[in-house]
Amino acid sequence: MTMTLTTPLSRLHAPTLTTLPAAVAANVDRVRAATDARIMAVVKADGYGHGAVAVARAAVDAGADWLGVTDAADATALRDAGLDVPILAWLNPSGVDAAQAAADRVDIAVGSVEELRQLAGDAEEPVRVHLHLDTGMSRGGCPVEDWAELLRVARAAAGRIEIVGVMGHLPLADDADPRANAAAVLRMRHGRDTVLRAGFGPLVTHLAATSGALTDPATHFDLVRVGAGLVGIDPSGTVELHGASQLTASVVHSALVRAGTAIGYGGTYVTPAETHLSVIGVGYADGIPRELTEGAGVEIGGSRHPIVGRVSMDQIVVDTGSREFPRGETATVFGPEGGAVPSVQEWARWAGTIPHTIVTGIGPRVERSRA
Ligand SMILES: *Cc1c(COP(=O)(O)O)cnc(C)c1O
Repeated sequence: MTMTLTTPLSRLHAPTLTTLPAAVAANVDRVRAATDARIMAVVKADGYGHGAVAVARAAVDAGADWLGVTDAADATALRDAGLDVPILAWLNPSGVDAAQAAADRVDIAVGSVEELRQLAGDAEEPVRVHLHLDTGMSRGGCPVEDWAELLRVARAAAGRIEIVGVMGHLPLADDADPRANAAAVLRMRHGRDTVLRAGFGPLVTHLAATSGALTDPATHFDLVRVGAGLVGIDPSGTVELHGASQLTASVVHSALVRAGTAIGYGGTYVTPAETHLSVIGVGYADGIPRELTEGAGVEIGGSRHPIVGRVSMDQIVVDTGSREFPRGETATVFGPEGGAVPSVQEWARWAGTIPHTIVTGIGPRVERSRA
């Protein structure tokens, strides 16, 4: 005897993060409208979780002039993908393979005398170097007191390194107040001028990231380094950019439950009335923050529905009220659409964090695709 199915078997789709290159391009255009400087597309942390190659290609196609990464090793994939613009790597947490950096034509930012000595010692052919000055952050970069010594070491290493740029980083640009940046701008100018006076140059001078690029032209110098802005995040909160990704997942289970039903670990939520539940197959292992406050929800069937009970490792439970959604129905966790679809910024508010941690936190088992 064969079983008769009363409802068609619905297909689940894997949790998927879709990168939207057109949004990246629109964000590059928006930055371009704010500056005459060249634009570096910063694609560290796998393009803020959106895929380094996908974001880089969209940004370069839209006219970005440089790419930026924290680790020189990340440049190899960009070169392999055929991206040909200059690349800068500025943190290099596991050190620099000088030969690989030369092969990949990666510029290296150096923020200490020790690092510069080491790089010069390792270099078999000249490595292009940007000297990184601490402009007020105390998070890497050469302290002002050591700058003269850094220049002496650079001069002694001529032939093995080539000084092509100077960089700083703004600690207070998110305030969107030029007065907060003034001290860093002065330090940057002074640092650049000493490098020029020491006989190096021409130099590419760069200080601003997204916030500075969007709010303070005095910080722009020759090049602005834009990461968050590419994927739709303006840390200064002054410019509406385009969200560059969409996270979807399937309803994996649905149920009608009675009033008084406890949901999830700890039974922290109890249904006040009879209601439909949809279980969505993403959890904190996929980057859904466990620290959600009230109000968090997802879009299913054109409406926003609240997440109830605790976030589990692999799933969340959504209260869809009088509406019933079958297994296989698509839930949009976040996206740029607005309305019922939550934005990354809303998720950040619900989790008491910044949008950056939401997008960079999306886990490795979430499939990646491109629109
Ligand atoms: C991450 C980073 C950037 C990009 O900052 P956004 O605010 O994401 O644009 C620029 N410069 C440095 C040194 C960085 O670490």
